[in-house]
Amino acid sequence: MWCDIPLGCSPQPSHDGRFAPSPTGTLHLGNLRTALLAWLFARSQGGRFVLRIEDLDPQRSRLEHEERQLADLRAIGIDWDGQPVRQSARTELYFTALSQLEAQGRVYPCWCTRADIHAATEAPHGPLPEGAYPGTCRRLTATQRAERELAAGRPPALRLDAGDERIAFTDLLQGNREGAVDDFVLCRADGAPAYNLAVVVDDAEQQIAEVVRGDDLIDSTPRQLLLARLLGLPAPRHAHVPLVLGPDGARLAKRHGAGTITDLAALGRRPEDAVAWMARTLGLASAGERVSASDLVERFHPARLRNEPTVLHPDLDIDIG
Ligand code: GLU
Repeated sequence: MWCDIPLGCSPQPSHDGRFAPSPTGTLHLGNLRTALLAWLFARSQGGRFVLRIEDLDPQRSRLEHEERQLADLRAIGIDWDGQPVRQSARTELYFTALSQLEAQGRVYPCWCTRADIHAATEAPHGPLPEGAYPGTCRRLTATQRAERELAAGRPPALRLDAGDERIAFTDLLQGNREGAVDDFVLCRADGAPAYNLAVVVDDAEQQIAEVVRGDDLIDSTPRQLLLARLLGLPAPRHAHVPLVLGPDGARLAKRHGAGTITDLAALGRRPEDAVAWMARTLGLASAGERVSASDLVERFHPARLRNEPTVLHPDLDIDIG
């Protein structure tokens, strides 16, 4: 049992964790390695581990992807407590949180298109990160809103008035971080609650103590911490883990011919080979060593993790030797 991270050891802090895939495709070795790490952080400390299916995008979410994802997680030795929870069955929770923010005067409608935002952010606009919303619709009068609605001919998205906040946090792997929070979307123009809102509500409702996920999501963390604060919810600790990259240095994706358990099976490789590869690339096993997910629970410690991205080559050369 490791217990040398912030907040001290007394009383025993919870290490309950989760993995929250979007059922929009198959999990590749990068996704599966992140899931394995999330599971190891929780299980090595006796924490609960739950699965949450982030299926709020009805256009892209598919039951067959969900089923494949669960089967592949099981195949590499990951288990979870209770039934997976689907976000699509919990939208009431997100709308209740949205009303709380509305009651605080923190929500405003926005009709900007991607192209509008791109054009507006070409001019420098202070400390916000690239791609951040510049606040175009934040201070519209009622008349201007009516005009925009008419011109757009569609309902608005709803954004948080983030009040130019900066949020600092300590990531268990990446150390001290600080970021500006832009006026991000809470509810999409099609009426679907947005990712940041749902994730904050769910992590609190599911009593998640440690959010372990890919480091491509680290820039969302200030947004989520601000939301938790505004909603009076407890904030989880975070560990953003290194990604698996394609040979071009970009996050592993389908276009790389990304390795899935099915792709590996076609090459005569078994899920156990994938686990051995994950363990070796994370610095948790030596070359040639055969380890299962449950063997890793015994030896897991965040300080042992190799905290750098891994490049997966197109021939899926996951030799464990
Ligand atoms: N559903 C998100 C994804 O698949 C993960 C969200 C999270 O871990 O916070 O990228």
